[in-house]
Amino acid sequence: MSEFVRHERLGETHVLCIANPPVNTLRTEVRAGLAAGIAAAAGARAVLIIGEGRGFSAGAEMTEFGKGRVPPSLTEVFDMIATFPGLVVAAIHGNALGGGLELALACHARVASPGASLGLPEVKRGFVPGAGGTQRLPRLIGAEAAMDIIVTGEPVRAEKALALGFIDAVLEGPLEDAALVWTRNALTVGAKFTLAAERTDRIAGQDMAAFDAKAATLLKRARGQASPRGCVEAVRAAVTLPFEEGLAKERALFAELVAGEQSRALRHIFFGEREVLRVPGMPADTAPLPVNRAVVIGAGTMGGGIAMSFANFGVPVTVVERDAGALEKGLARCRANWERTVTSGRLSQADYESRAKLLTGSTDMSVVAEADLVIEAIYEDMDAKKTVFAELDRLARPGVVLASNTSTLDIDAIASVTRRPELVVGMHFFSPANVMRLLEIVRAKASSHVAIATAMALGKRIGKLAVVVGNCDGFVGNRMTGKRSPQVEKLLQEGCLPQDIDRVMEAYGMAMGPLATGDLAGLDIGAAVRRARGTTAPIADALVAAGRFGQKTSAGWYRYDEKRTRIPDPEVERIILDTAEKLQIRRRTIDDQEIIERLMLPMVNEGARILEEHIAARAIDIDVIFVNGFGWPAWRGGPMFWADQLGLATVRDRLAHYAQTTNSPDLKPAALIETLASEGGRFSPAMG
Ligand code: NAD
Repeated sequence: MSEFVRHERLGETHVLCIANPPVNTLRTEVRAGLAAGIAAAAGARAVLIIGEGRGFSAGAEMTEFGKGRVPPSLTEVFDMIATFPGLVVAAIHGNALGGGLELALACHARVASPGASLGLPEVKRGFVPGAGGTQRLPRLIGAEAAMDIIVTGEPVRAEKALALGFIDAVLEGPLEDAALVWTRNALTVGAKFTLAAERTDRIAGQDMAAFDAKAATLLKRARGQASPRGCVEAVRAAVTLPFEEGLAKERALFAELVAGEQSRALRHIFFGEREVLRVPGMPADTAPLPVNRAVVIGAGTMGGGIAMSFANFGVPVTVVERDAGALEKGLARCRANWERTVTSGRLSQADYESRAKLLTGSTDMSVVAEADLVIEAIYEDMDAKKTVFAELDRLARPGVVLASNTSTLDIDAIASVTRRPELVVGMHFFSPANVMRLLEIVRAKASSHVAIATAMALGKRIGKLAVVVGNCDGFVGNRMTGKRSPQVEKLLQEGCLPQDIDRVMEAYGMAMGPLATGDLAGLDIGAAVRRARGTTAPIADALVAAGRFGQKTSAGWYRYDEKRTRIPDPEVERIILDTAEKLQIRRRTIDDQEIIERLMLPMVNEGARILEEHIAARAIDIDVIFVNGFGWPAWRGGPMFWADQLGLATVRDRLAHYAQTTNSPDLKPAALIETLASEGGRFSPAMG
């Protein structure tokens, strides 16, 4: 009797219950338990496979990857199912994902609870389903419908799975009982179930032109990513090859992709997003304070977006503005934003109304007394923030966390004007705050574990990925990208045009190049930061002086038409050439590799300093920040992952090279890079 698969005989049916909490991954002991259970059920008329706890199975145990396979493999378990003389039924509740769904697909029949979620998310980890999913699913529902599921990795609900035809029934009530009744009934009526492997009716006569058209549509969004292409090829094999050959093709694609850099990157981020939730030094039993009502101070760009995030996730929120005019403007912007979502069909009218009801406004600060947590999002000015925090401290109940959304200011200084510095933290959202998933939670000197835990729990509740960072100018993300800007300016002076730089970074996989991003954020903001820091950037400053603030003035690094299409602008080229001439710089051709290195290496160097200063707990925290807040493609793994792939000795040498050739003392390799390079070390542990 296996500890991980419980075996129960109920008359003619044997029940095998996967019990590997919390999500029933198919670790070695589970596979062995299933094999033993099926063997022990010899002679039974039916076997019912079900999951204990939250769901059926979330799939393969990712920590077993790269460690060499221990038998039995899933395929061996599936072969036992295929040769089992009776009926094998999978009963699914919660999640059946990846290998979990493949197990169900290998059974004779599948039943599920309403709302159960079925999917093959392997593509998101950088590989293809490797246990027959790409061969069996098309045989059950047709190649084009299967591609939708396999290439996107998006799960479907039981009801949709039933309509598509890869489950046989949706059963109300307690699943095990309902599935037993269903199975007995199937036996009684002598229902016939054909294994997916033996079916050809859904794939016979597939129109390959339609297949290619469907594949092209799905791959359009995948750009440089390898696994979606692999998924298409695997499904193609299901249509063009006999089952066993298709399986072999799937296995070969799996082996190739899983060993590749993109899959390593995706798994690095997948584990990283779980790792960042473990905050070093925070006792495991730290309980967050309950937050049932939030107050946001300021209904500008950020305050409005933050307030929407609360309402979107069912948390009542009040925004406070200075006067009725500013308040109405802020609330109207939130409403308009929701209305656009309704118009585009992504939000129902009823949901819009219930969200809008949760968002209220006031010009009276005293509403802060009702808050369980306050987030300040007024403009970036230390004196103004201090005035507001002194007042918040006076008005908010004792024990309530006070957070600032500042991008650059010192949280310790803000906390110092309160009598509760232990409850003051930064909650740094990214614009647009109702859309961007990243939330940097800034731990100041006095911030308590409870305050940090409260901010993290709240972040999670409103759909954010919260990463705890230390208190410094720019925190992690902006501090690192800030080090890229001087190199952008220098590249423009030395030979690049904005479109060259953006093209290279977008070809690398970034959602948007740095100059297009600047246009979106507003070039005046960067100029204000430079003024405050006493630095200059001749070309960028000249653009701002010419009134080119970016998209909001329809002109920045590019010109913009009514549809906000960016158009390279000869006027910008003229400004660039004039400035270079004034600075007596002889422009040259700069290759793509140099562009990549000069934009990435300064960020990596600053990332290393951030680690030295414990502003970020781990390199993975930095990578997770870039993937969730800066449009870095997950399949590239983030800047620190990039550096590890390059090798830190190379990183050190290239930094030293550019420090000298571009006269940038800042690019002198950080001490941590020197140390790791000399030891043959890495920022993050190597992944199998
Ligand atoms: P904004 O100018 O759009 O909004 C600020 C709002 O605060 C204005 O509506 C103003 O009327 C209001 N306000 C000012 N003083 C107030 C007071 N005493 N009481 C109530 N309301 C008051 O600014 P923003 O872009 O939303 O930025 C707000 C904060 O968020 C800043 O600290 C900024 O650094 C930070 N931030 C901005 C971004 C961004 O991309 N814009 C991103 C992250 C963080």
